[in-house]
Amino acid sequence: MADISSLPALTGNQVPPGGQFLPLFNTFVHPSAQQRVSEVLASTFLSEGKLVKQFEGQLTAELGMLHPAALNSGTSALHLALEVAGVGAGDEVILSPQTFIASAITVVQVGARPVFADIQYENGNIDPADVEHRITPRTKAIMAVHWGGYPCDMAELHAIAQRHNLVVIEDAAHAPGATYQGQPIGAISDYTCFSFQAIKHLTTGDGGALCARDPEKAREVFRRRWFGIDRANSPMNEVGEREYDLTDVGYKYHLSDYAAALGLANLNGFHDRMAVRRQRVQQYRDGLAAVAGLTLFQHQTDRESAHWLFGFHVENRLDFIRALKARGVGASVVHDGIDNNTLFGGKRPELTQQRRFDETQIHIPLHDALTAEQAGYIVDVIKQGW
Ligand SMILES: *Cc1c(COP(=O)(O)O)cnc(C)c1O
Repeated sequence: MADISSLPALTGNQVPPGGQFLPLFNTFVHPSAQQRVSEVLASTFLSEGKLVKQFEGQLTAELGMLHPAALNSGTSALHLALEVAGVGAGDEVILSPQTFIASAITVVQVGARPVFADIQYENGNIDPADVEHRITPRTKAIMAVHWGGYPCDMAELHAIAQRHNLVVIEDAAHAPGATYQGQPIGAISDYTCFSFQAIKHLTTGDGGALCARDPEKAREVFRRRWFGIDRANSPMNEVGEREYDLTDVGYKYHLSDYAAALGLANLNGFHDRMAVRRQRVQQYRDGLAAVAGLTLFQHQTDRESAHWLFGFHVENRLDFIRALKARGVGASVVHDGIDNNTLFGGKRPELTQQRRFDETQIHIPLHDALTAEQAGYIVDVIKQGW
């Protein structure tokens, strides 16, 4: 995504504060990152080392993640979670279509079949009641995607998983820092997957983390993120070869120290930035609550969103997008239901709430560089109508 300062200046009757287009996303790089990454480059120890370990420690200390293993992407985290959970050929994984293709493509990668459950129109998350209908003897796991950072109904999903002996995997790419009934996302389910891609809350350029609740499974994650070799317990012998015996398939999914240095820098002030995001969200919710033709997404008080996105439903969506664009404001659906893809079997008309959601959902700018003045301008533009 482009940096705000590189976007063209606008001219016209109505332009945003600063005179430049307001994009949906922004990449946050903390001022201390240059120094921290430079130190790693100067050391020439670039690959996985002590900074990755330090980064993982901070993910636990700052965000409450349980046994996080830092990886090279969120997609790798999803793939490794499915592998370690034992999901494979012939199995089925139930998930929501309201997500990025990474959620379902990793299911296909392990030889299993993605089975789409319907969503809740009010927030874009998987509907536990519909999950129950889609369970078969082949069902192995439920994948919960926290759309835009708003936590799914985890208590209901866990109850279903328990009744049917299923694994719960969270795709929490949008949800670092979110909480559900007082517990941090990253400490609740069997597996939780995070993304540190460039436009996510916390970036390492590209990167991710996988949290496995069971310490035994967590050890397996650490081993299999690097070929399946247990580095901590495979000493070098006298002739200079590492002593190990490979017992199962591993991957080259580890994070590198220069990326961890960026992640560590970006963790500075994380909670302050989240507090500012919450303020912007409150400003949007207050400003847009009474606008005709617009329905805000639901939010319940037993959970705190990470607010990666600010979304709602609108009537006459194309007119809405055009009206905002003409006044220098970005608006996007971000993703339509991914069941539409041929690889996943094509559009399912029976997912009635997903189909409704596809028609009316929209998202407006929300990121760390968005000022209160800019958010105010966006509210004013929307209030003028479309
Ligand atoms: C970003 C994202 C991913 C993939 O993360 P990468 O780090 O880009 O591999 C997975 N799921 C969702 C919902 C995402 O938004």
